[in-house]
Amino acid sequence: LFIALEGGDGAGKSTQAALLGQALVAAGRTVVRTREPGGTPIGEKLRALVLEHGHGDIDARTEALMFAASRAAHVHQVIVPALQRGDVVICDRYMDSSVAYQGEGRGLGARAVLALNLWAADGLRPDLTVLLDVEPAEGRTRRTAGAAAEDRLESEPDRFHADIRAAFLALAGAEPERYLVLSASRSPEDLHTAIRAALPRVSA
Ligand code: C5P
Repeated sequence: LFIALEGGDGAGKSTQAALLGQALVAAGRTVVRTREPGGTPIGEKLRALVLEHGHGDIDARTEALMFAASRAAHVHQVIVPALQRGDVVICDRYMDSSVAYQGEGRGLGARAVLALNLWAADGLRPDLTVLLDVEPAEGRTRRTAGAAAEDRLESEPDRFHADIRAAFLALAGAEPERYLVLSASRSPEDLHTAIRAALPRVSA
């Protein structure tokens, strides 16, 4: 069972990944919690490089390829082996983030970025993608409150975050059976309950 959490910065993905992981472990499952960019030694290095350099230094295509390379390593080394063992994989961001951030936010085009990532991930898609839909202004407040030190997009205008939000919603709208869209303004407990309720749908 492969579950991805997606959404803009400040949506609360990490909190929900942690709550879901704890609940599934309590229910007797073996859970692999991981994140993108990152998740492998090479992926963490690529993450550090991208976050350190930011939009100013890295052109959009290079950035997209770095995220895709990080993802290829992650799928190959971590996600596929875990799924083959029968573990549950909970991933904080997956290829939808690339489609939204690099495809829409950085203007490379959703179609091209999706194609690149499907190739990088050898076609692997989550069983369920939970989209925590966050308003740009609310995400900004939460990011500031959470003091996300490595959040390199802090300086991006609300317009950028609005484009990303629209891209995520479009992806979810195109494949409603694979997505659970929840408003990130709901309480963490309430969101957790809603996510748990969606699991039988995909684990059956
Ligand atoms: O969600 P997380 O904090 O791990 O993301 C790190 C940073 O990388 C965030 O600023 C996020 O917006 C950005 N990012 C990106 N493109 C992606 C994934 C994340 O610009 N495909």
